[in-house]
Amino acid sequence: MPVYKAPVDDVVFLLSDVFHIERHANLPGFADAPPDLITAILGEAAKFCEDALTPLNRVGDTQGCKRHPDGRVTTPDGFKEAFRQLVAGGWIGISVPTEFGGQGLPTVLTQIVNEFLASANMAFAMYPGLTQGAIAALIVHGTPELHALYLPKMITGEWTGTMNLTEPQCGTDLGLIRTKAVKQPDGSYRITGTKIFISAGEHDLAPNIVHLVLARIEGAPAGTKGLSLFVVPKFVPQADGSLGAPNGVTCGSIEEKMGIHGNSTCVMNYDGAAGWLVASENEGLRAMFTMMNEARLGVGVQGLALSEVAYQNAVAYAKERLQGRAITGAKFKDKPADPIIVHPDVRRALMSMRAFNEAARALVLWTALKSDVAHRSSDAKERQAADDHMGLLTPVIKGVLTDQGFANAVAAQQIFGGHGYIKETGMEQFVRDARIPMIYEGANGIQALDLVGRKLAKDGGRAITAFFAETQGFLKERAGDAALKPYLEPLGKALGHLQQATMWFAQNALAKPDNAGAGATDYMHLFGLVALGYMWCRIAAAAQAARAADTSGRMEAKLVTARFFMERMLPETATRLARIQAGAAAVMELPAEAF
Ligand SMILES: Cc1cc2nc3c(=O)[nH]c(=O)nc-3n(C[C@H](O)[C@H](O)[C@H](O)COP(=O)(O)OP(=O)(O)OC[C@H]3O[C@@H](n4cnc5c(N)ncnc54)[C@H](O)[C@@H]3O)c2cc1C
Repeated sequence: MPVYKAPVDDVVFLLSDVFHIERHANLPGFADAPPDLITAILGEAAKFCEDALTPLNRVGDTQGCKRHPDGRVTTPDGFKEAFRQLVAGGWIGISVPTEFGGQGLPTVLTQIVNEFLASANMAFAMYPGLTQGAIAALIVHGTPELHALYLPKMITGEWTGTMNLTEPQCGTDLGLIRTKAVKQPDGSYRITGTKIFISAGEHDLAPNIVHLVLARIEGAPAGTKGLSLFVVPKFVPQADGSLGAPNGVTCGSIEEKMGIHGNSTCVMNYDGAAGWLVASENEGLRAMFTMMNEARLGVGVQGLALSEVAYQNAVAYAKERLQGRAITGAKFKDKPADPIIVHPDVRRALMSMRAFNEAARALVLWTALKSDVAHRSSDAKERQAADDHMGLLTPVIKGVLTDQGFANAVAAQQIFGGHGYIKETGMEQFVRDARIPMIYEGANGIQALDLVGRKLAKDGGRAITAFFAETQGFLKERAGDAALKPYLEPLGKALGHLQQATMWFAQNALAKPDNAGAGATDYMHLFGLVALGYMWCRIAAAAQAARAADTSGRMEAKLVTARFFMERMLPETATRLARIQAGAAAVMELPAEAF
């Protein structure tokens, strides 16, 4: 059975030595989370994930969710009890502002806990994850009445949340949504339509489910400009918060799918269901984007989480599995063969995963801290800069971390040879589970287009200019540090590639937008490599500073891993740049009928 140990030490190092979380002490909620408390919270989360959720991952995969003839959906054995523990631990609302009943702790803690949850059991983690997204959208866009009625129960986890965008004819292109909303004399709406692929749409973990539904009010404009967002509860709550009558929303079926079997993916039928408007009429997409941005970061974290757990299991196996002898001569002469970790090709794969995981975690934490600044700082300029960062990095984190998360799950499976292909080791489950984050919350191709088509040019390129300035500033500031040269020089070169690619789009994509479309995925990955490279430079600087006091060998290991990233992974920026500069001609030349 797969093992998992939450990387608490790595997180603590990143928060304290790399990002100096104490410098954020002026932000609300940070003073309530001194280092020892953070370590204690992470220790508790780790225990829950390792002891309660990891063993259920396999159960969830083999049993899946079941829809019963009366429309009820039951989750796999053990999920209900684990969810009860999650609610009792107060984990869902740890970063929700205290005025709404949360604990107000930094958002960065939620992202870390969510990584642990998804490594241990991604299908389970989606139930609280979607609830957190729905809470975020309701806080920003809901009325005080909706806040009072729904937030307290959702923040504790007593009720869960969902997001309902997709319909049979409408995935990426939300302008095609047909679900209808008809206004009632009492100000509520009647919602009618069919939503598909709705994660956590129906289940037995909570007595009520709060659906956030995109629909079109009768007479609204066509396309995305005519979409509005509604709260549609499974049971309509009474004024005192107790459950009232069942609403006209039912689960028609659950999808048979490739992975995340423990999460119910539902067809939801809305049959004149009572709904209440969130935000203004026709402002639904903007409101849903609050939820989607949260969710996109969360999905990026899923990519990292699966890469981490797959890596941990691959390492354990590589130390145990005896095959062949080291090229340089037997390393374990007393054994019939050496463990496969002696082989350079196995190490190459393990180092690639490790070098990705540690930098990706840093990138998530860095961005989550920006989210805290964006929402909590009293300085408007600081808030705007942090918000710019979030907008720019969200598609990169979603797209790159999930593409690479899947690639790493496959690489980890490969280390098991044939034993990775059979179910017993659990590696093929990681591969299947890691596939969906690349698709939902906007397929990764769409993330790349969002980055290139919207985020680069937004506000006159303010966000990308700030990213370049920060990275260049770091390189300049540290230029005299000879010990950092092996990290800084490659980053400088890779940053140059990203700048050339950005310039190439500015010069070649305005008149020919296909050039942007054809190069977008390469640009997103080029950006991701530079961002991860920057993270490695910051980690290396912190490891250099800490190595004298830390005799555990961890800092040396970080420096070696940083070198591996610079020598073996970052050079890919040159290939990505070459592809971008090749333009769209060969991509677009063949007519559709020639395929
Ligand atoms: C397990 C699972 C859970 C899900 N959970 C939810 C949920 O909770 N709520 C919800 O609302 N939805 C959910 N979804 C739906 C998911 O978000 C969509 O599947 C996804 O957004 C893609 O839409 P689609 O499947 O219709 O693909 P399409 O939109 O048909 O896209 C097909 C392909 O074409 C590409 N493409 C489409 N348009 C363009 C374009 N303009 N330019 C370039 N490429 C393009 C896409 O990148 C994709 O690769 C879930 C899906 C699954 C499988």
